[in-house]
Amino acid sequence: MSLCDEIIGDVRRYFSHQRELYGREIILENPALLKGLNCCEQLDSLTELRHKVESCTMCDISKSRKNIVFGEGNEKANLMLVGEAPGREEDIQGRPFVGMAGQLLDRILQAIGFERDEVYICNILKCRPPNNRDPNPDEIDRCLPFLLRQIDFIKPRLILTLGRIAAQILLRKEEPLNRLRGKIHDYNKMSLIVTYHPAALLRNPQWKRLVWEDVKMLREWYDENVGDKPKWHPPRKQ
Ligand code: URA
Repeated sequence: MSLCDEIIGDVRRYFSHQRELYGREIILENPALLKGLNCCEQLDSLTELRHKVESCTMCDISKSRKNIVFGEGNEKANLMLVGEAPGREEDIQGRPFVGMAGQLLDRILQAIGFERDEVYICNILKCRPPNNRDPNPDEIDRCLPFLLRQIDFIKPRLILTLGRIAAQILLRKEEPLNRLRGKIHDYNKMSLIVTYHPAALLRNPQWKRLVWEDVKMLREWYDENVGDKPKWHPPRKQ
């Protein structure tokens, strides 16, 4: 095989991988993201990926973290939850959604008949931004390849994003959360549902009704399309 054929083969493989990750839309403009995607592509398991995240020092928040928060749960889950970034308690324990917002999330899951260990839970960022500030674009670009590879390994049928940032980043849309929620999105041969972040619900309890609508839709979609659990009926009173 000539050098030219080899290069053409590499380019083909690269674009076919990009298409798998992003559908027909191919991202070429972002060097940090591309470098990360190529690097993560070579990792063969979630364990290898976790080790890569543990040794990551690609952005400043790695300096202030106590622990990485890789994600946890059923590695064969059909339902994957994606939040924004670890908070104080998550940073201390190295586990996602273990603070107040996490306790509310557990109750939301239980309300639609899921136990926490049936699903896989992780975040866009694997380290805590100081003072829980919003992740910045550079941190997201550097960390996103980890999440995309995590999704590759878990292969969920359905992703539930929690909060505006996770929804906008995965869907690559800038619309506000209230325009992204309330429907089933296609996401690279998977489905994706958007809802409010549980921490936002603690501050705005009036959004609970909307979250209830979102998760009821999630469970109905799950029963119709996955169907690996006894059929669920919404409780009469909420
Ligand atoms: N908020 C998040 O987005 N993720 C966590 O893990 C905890 C709080």
